[in-house]
Amino acid sequence: MSRPVRVRFAPSPTGPLHPGGVRTALFNYLLAKQLGGTFILRVEDTDQTRFVEGAEQFIIDSLSWCGITFDEGVHIGGPYGPYRQSERKAMYRQFADQLIADGHAYYAFDTETELEEMRERLKRANVASPQYNSITRVNMKNSLSLPADETQRRLDAGDPFVIRFKMPRNEEVKVKDIIRGWVVVNTAQLDDKVLFKSDGMPTYHLANVVDDYLMKITHVIRGEEWLPSAPLHVLLYQSFGWEEVMPEFAHLPLLLKPDGDGKLSKRDGDRLGLPFYAIAWTNPENGETTAGYREAGYFAEAYINFLALLGWNPGDNREIFSMEELIKVFSLDRVNKHGARYDFQKLNWFNQQYLRHKSDAELAKMVMPALKAQGHDFNKNYVQEVCRLMKERWSVVSDFWESSRYFFEAPSSYDVEVAGKRWKDAVPGFIEQLAEVFEEMKSFKAPEIEAEFNKTAENMGLKPGQLMQAYRLAISGQGAGPAVYEMSELLGHDEVVNRLRSALQTLGNHG
Ligand code: GLU
Repeated sequence: MSRPVRVRFAPSPTGPLHPGGVRTALFNYLLAKQLGGTFILRVEDTDQTRFVEGAEQFIIDSLSWCGITFDEGVHIGGPYGPYRQSERKAMYRQFADQLIADGHAYYAFDTETELEEMRERLKRANVASPQYNSITRVNMKNSLSLPADETQRRLDAGDPFVIRFKMPRNEEVKVKDIIRGWVVVNTAQLDDKVLFKSDGMPTYHLANVVDDYLMKITHVIRGEEWLPSAPLHVLLYQSFGWEEVMPEFAHLPLLLKPDGDGKLSKRDGDRLGLPFYAIAWTNPENGETTAGYREAGYFAEAYINFLALLGWNPGDNREIFSMEELIKVFSLDRVNKHGARYDFQKLNWFNQQYLRHKSDAELAKMVMPALKAQGHDFNKNYVQEVCRLMKERWSVVSDFWESSRYFFEAPSSYDVEVAGKRWKDAVPGFIEQLAEVFEEMKSFKAPEIEAEFNKTAENMGLKPGQLMQAYRLAISGQGAGPAVYEMSELLGHDEVVNRLRSALQTLGNHG
């Protein structure tokens, strides 16, 4: 009988959530929603030395901005709580003890110095990767090598110990991965991992497996960096006698740098001057804040759409998917084995697609704060019209002010290069004439403006096409922009006439 689907996102609060983490959460979420399952947020904070203040809340806030929600978890509770491993501390020891009782684990009393000496000794003997394993453990201080009464004496005396997994010497472990098929590893390559630490906390491995079992997890979907740990996890399920309810595994491909080799890192974003995290992150150590996609004006839907296609494809050429559509079409079978390049420009492209589909009214609402911050209070219809003309030119909403400033303020400077190329010969004379013609116009609609423009040029024996850029420069300060007559209509009669005259003053009446 198949069990109800339960999946979890299990981050460690060791710093801000990376895009890879958001994608892992997303794929878990999509699967849960598609299969009518339950999605759980479990915080794996057993390594107290790597704990970062605020990281847990940041994870929750990042995912919430993305529209990824949970059914159970640290922040909402649920029937399998607590969901923070530090709060489950008391539960783990009995499981470690069970493994010891069944001969799958043992106490080890070695000090740091002794472990270091062991590694040095093995290095001298040319062992490439010195490990605590079935061969070396016999020379170390543990409950397998020491006489039983000595072990007991040490335990009674309260000597510090760890509990290690007793890795079989030479066995094949088979891990079935939905994305990679069967992955087979010989235990000779694996070490006797610590399951329980001297500080009374389980390690990631023990806590992770025990919690997946107790929380009845059916699918473990996580990053490829955990694939090397999967054989140990499978062995733990076997040692506990939990094979029947072992979850299915899916290890997601790495996110790679946009260019070159290697894993994606925050530095790649810094290099390109682009955000890296979903939302702004404040480093608790130095108080420094880095803006996220949210603050930079990206749409969460675009970010999610972009992430979904990193390592997964729908099997056809479609690229635009809403969350609802993703829930319908997502499948782990179509996740690639190979790493996926994190192409920042592609994210901009996605954002642009979503932006173009927003109504002018919606966009106007979004840009209003930027306008207010600049001390402007234009009426809604005007701002909406600016959005209509300009939105094709933006990747993100925050491009608004830089690109559209001249709709709200007369230009205070003019593009030098364009002025050098266009503001010459008969041009100033034409602009002067144009200002006079425009002054007389009673109605100022785009087609009329165009007609007057052309007539004035022809009367002076000039070609309209060659004057257009200079005209644009005079009214906007720039050499490129939206349809110039529509833009003129929007700026309005008086404003255009004034701007033409100011341009003549600044750029000169003569070519
Ligand atoms: N705590 C691990 C992490 O930070 C979870 C790995 C897993 O999902 O098993 O990614």
